[in-house]
Amino acid sequence: MQSWLIDYQRGLRWLRRHRPLRALAYLERALLAIPTDRLRSPRSSSRRADLARLFFYLGLGFRKAGMRNRAIGSWVESARLDKRGRVRRKLFRVTNRYGMARQDSAEIDDQQAFYGIQLSRYIRSKQSHRLGTRAEIDMIAELIDEHWVRLRETADLPRLTCGQKLELFRSIVIVFPFLTVPHDLKTEDVAVDFSHGRRITDGDRCVCGSGLPYRLCHGRTPGADEALIGKF
Ligand SMILES: [Zn+2]
Repeated sequence: MQSWLIDYQRGLRWLRRHRPLRALAYLERALLAIPTDRLRSPRSSSRRADLARLFFYLGLGFRKAGMRNRAIGSWVESARLDKRGRVRRKLFRVTNRYGMARQDSAEIDDQQAFYGIQLSRYIRSKQSHRLGTRAEIDMIAELIDEHWVRLRETADLPRLTCGQKLELFRSIVIVFPFLTVPHDLKTEDVAVDFSHGRRITDGDRCVCGSGLPYRLCHGRTPGADEALIGKF
């Protein structure tokens, strides 16, 4: 049997036993070993389906392990590979308008989006692209939180659309401690659909052709659990 398949099946067994971290270790190893050449050829549909299933179960593992935004990232990959699969419906159920894991209230959704945006900006600005110590994480989280509290008091967030809130969240520049001065603040993506010559708005399909809404595909807002591993 192919080695990726052995790891894949082991991963599924640990998922069934509710040991998501152990399952993830096997599923991630399967992902590294699964052959991905000729994925684009029309005759490779079973290979694409294998990979789509692998991403689906990886997502389940992340979800069960509490990494809810990484779960969504995996399900988006799965949905891109399998355009008719059930994973699309699942994605719509568990995501909010930021393309992030849906929280208990709109306010927490907003706060998580602000946190994800600022945290990834901070991590991106570091040469190492990662956070170091627990103390550093706490310090940055506290700094972002202070700005969030101030923002919530001054802006009328419930009246803004998701696109307006994203613009506002991105416009707020937090001065992080000296060792981490951001140098790429001006390179933030602005989503433009070049084929139609206009900016992409909330409800548009992604330009990559996945058929997913832009906000769920290449326009996703990264969650903290993704930013921490360098996925923006
Ligand atoms: Zn896309």
